[in-house]
Amino acid sequence: MQVDVDDFVLVSHEDAMPTVSQSAPRYLPEINDAIERISETLWEVNKKIHDNPELGYEEFIAHDTLTSFMKNMDGWKVTPSAYGLKTAWTAVWDSGKKGPVISFNCEMDALEGIGHACGHNLIATASVSAAVATAQVVKTNSLAGKVVLIGTPAEEGTKPQSSLSTVTTNSTTGGGGKIKLLQAGAYKDHQVDLNLLSHPGITRNHALTRTSAYTALRVEYFGRAAHAAASPWLGINALDALITAYNAVSVLRQQTMPGDVIQGHITDGGARPNIIHAYAAGNFVVRANTQARLGELLKRVDTCFKAGATATGARRKYTIGMAYADHVPNRPLGAAYARYFNALLLPEEGSGSSSSSSSSPWESEIPVDQDLDEMLGRSGASTDQGDISYAMPSLMPGFAIVPGPEGNGPHSPDFEQASGTRDAFAKALRVGKALAGAAVDVLTIEGLLGEVKLAWKKSMEEEGA
Ligand SMILES: [Zn+2]
Ligand SMILES: [Zn+2]
Repeated sequence: MQVDVDDFVLVSHEDAMPTVSQSAPRYLPEINDAIERISETLWEVNKKIHDNPELGYEEFIAHDTLTSFMKNMDGWKVTPSAYGLKTAWTAVWDSGKKGPVISFNCEMDALEGIGHACGHNLIATASVSAAVATAQVVKTNSLAGKVVLIGTPAEEGTKPQSSLSTVTTNSTTGGGGKIKLLQAGAYKDHQVDLNLLSHPGITRNHALTRTSAYTALRVEYFGRAAHAAASPWLGINALDALITAYNAVSVLRQQTMPGDVIQGHITDGGARPNIIHAYAAGNFVVRANTQARLGELLKRVDTCFKAGATATGARRKYTIGMAYADHVPNRPLGAAYARYFNALLLPEEGSGSSSSSSSSPWESEIPVDQDLDEMLGRSGASTDQGDISYAMPSLMPGFAIVPGPEGNGPHSPDFEQASGTRDAFAKALRVGKALAGAAVDVLTIEGLLGEVKLAWKKSMEEEGA
């Protein structure tokens, strides 16, 4: 408040910290209290998951820890090992009154050899805290609606593939837990209106994350063995077919669009130098900015594979592996999240207010300009949350944590260390509060859910879905 006294403007202490005290959204104090109340118990949950890393579909400790925690929360109905997946689970809090149905996804899996180097323990923390706080606000204020928390296994992509048998679309080690849950009806069963999730990193905070669409595939060539010196003309060289294809892909790379990425490696390159190679195979990963573009690019890549077969006479076999859609962020949800998130930022030292010019990425303000926000949130990586975003409005904000000593981002041992700290946990709780804020906005602001759905429909039309 500003008061004029004899030509002086007096600025009260509250005014000196405007982001928290003045523009703080109405339900923020309630959300804050709800999350602070469970924070110590949740720290133990977070630590247990982080210190016991488990691979996709094997997140047994995480599953048990999280379901036990949710069973202790008042009024939640918990279903362990849901939808035919041992480590998937659901927890539902229903007001009993028809209203918006908010869902949160809860990731749990780690990476082979480097533990929780993707910080999925922090994702679990953020989602669990957000769900509990949202339900608390619904209860306290007698609102209408339902909160659904879904334990989603196996986000991380396929394991390194070295043999044909590991590349199948229904491989249980192939990631894509959310896709399996979508197919099993987990979201439809609860008539979910939208889905919220978050992801840690070391760059700036942002609300609108765009990831790449991706498809893993395996190409195999079947030729004919022959003595390489005595009668090579009787053979069909499968390795030559694969090398020709690989070179054709390399040529194609010169004409690809920004966002297109094609990577491959050879897994089978023949038996011996003195035998014409009867069999050769390789694994490829193709990425593009959108599903539609990925479809076009895959056709071009297959032309390269055909070239190998045509040149050598080998037979080509093409097997599509795991595929994730690009993540399409929902802007109305992003705006709601950003409002809460920015209100929760620490004031910059000396300035008395939070600022987008903060030198620490983890205290960076989310830009109000959503085009800029989305630019900052563009990632070449892929996630099965992308498939969620094609099925319903989705928000997956990225948040920065303090990096480890080497300053490395996700999928590095350094980030594994960083994601286990008390400070990273605090950052995840802050994200939980902002996610809950976005959820509460949908539950309390007339017409917002309609806006969210309309924006999603428009985005899907733009994506050509
Ligand atoms: Zn990851
Ligand atoms: Zn991840």
